[in-house]
Amino acid sequence: MTMRRGACPTLSAPMETGDGLLARIAPAHGALTPEKLAGIAKAAGRHGNGILEVTARGKLQIRGLTAESAPLFATEINALELGAVDGFAVETPPLAPPPPLAKRINAYVAAHGLGPSLAPKVSVTVDCSGALHLDAISADIKLIMADDGQWLIGIGGNGATAQWLGSGDEQTIGTAALTILDLLAESGGRARDFAQAQKDALRAGLEPAVQHPARVDSAPVGRFALKDGGSALGIALPFGQVAADALVALCEAAPDAREVRLAPRSGLLLTGLDGARHEEVFQAAHALGFVTQGDDPRLFIAACAGAPACASARFDAKALAAEAAAAGLPDGSFRLHLSACEKGCAQPAGPVVNLIAVEGCCTLSCVGAKPSGRLRTFLIERGETLRAALLRKSG
Ligand code: SF4
Repeated sequence: MTMRRGACPTLSAPMETGDGLLARIAPAHGALTPEKLAGIAKAAGRHGNGILEVTARGKLQIRGLTAESAPLFATEINALELGAVDGFAVETPPLAPPPPLAKRINAYVAAHGLGPSLAPKVSVTVDCSGALHLDAISADIKLIMADDGQWLIGIGGNGATAQWLGSGDEQTIGTAALTILDLLAESGGRARDFAQAQKDALRAGLEPAVQHPARVDSAPVGRFALKDGGSALGIALPFGQVAADALVALCEAAPDAREVRLAPRSGLLLTGLDGARHEEVFQAAHALGFVTQGDDPRLFIAACAGAPACASARFDAKALAAEAAAAGLPDGSFRLHLSACEKGCAQPAGPVVNLIAVEGCCTLSCVGAKPSGRLRTFLIERGETLRAALLRKSG
């Protein structure tokens, strides 16, 4: 069964795209091992077009399924016993188990059957800080724990754009979040659309919102300390994509990793490896084409699916991204966003240079970033060349 319009792709209801059906899954914290991830990749190779993605939000996508192969793929994934892989779940940072507040919200939604009443894209993030925080991720409800243990609650945005309603202790803020979820389930709408009176009512009983300090948006690449005293090895998928056989090979190079966690900004975190194995797995990942260095230019480019994966695309965004990275662009002081149509998928937070293909041309815009003349020229010339090439091909 394919999905209804406006819904998010799932395992049982994949979404139609330019290269077939796309399924999205998000195994719970602790559910994924190298063996299970290799099992997913092998199934993706058998039943899809062999391309997998880890999204900017840290979800796993499988591309190129067909109406016939999607149910077979789903059966194989279910046999891996990953637990629930889609549906509503609070998003939490990957370096620690979900905190009690996240569990409370998940349990409430399940106990009250709110999931089916919530708009498909309704999301909640619960963030207890750490190197790989969720500030860049937009959510209907954003909960962030401050250094003093107090919580901040905001709606309808990311760490920089959310409307902060107030602060309080964990119990108070959790209750406010559940009230908002009840409102969202009643209306079927999104928190960004709340009326001023609703926001004012939600602010009652909360302490005034404290200023949320801007935090560096770190890439999930390198070694990270875990709350339990261990460490995780982080690597990233170049432009969010990997071939199934490369992912299988990575998993086979790290069979002794205890767990694999999906991380925002297209990352994979492998836990349970000692220092010597970190180096060996890094080298294997590098040889397979993964991003293993924090200054790799591929980390600073966010490219939408583009052609041929998306039917709306006006250029091959991944090919343009690869060219820009190979040319040593950009310089790391901002993110480069390549969008093959006006929809602007994959828009990153923070300083950004956008190249967007529109009807008849490509447009360049900047927010908080000053691209070099070389980058500007490259983007306009190559973007236009790839746009015209696709136009000729499809014409
Ligand atoms: S921005 Fe447009 S072309 Fe790119 S993935 Fe989104 S809908 Fe497709």
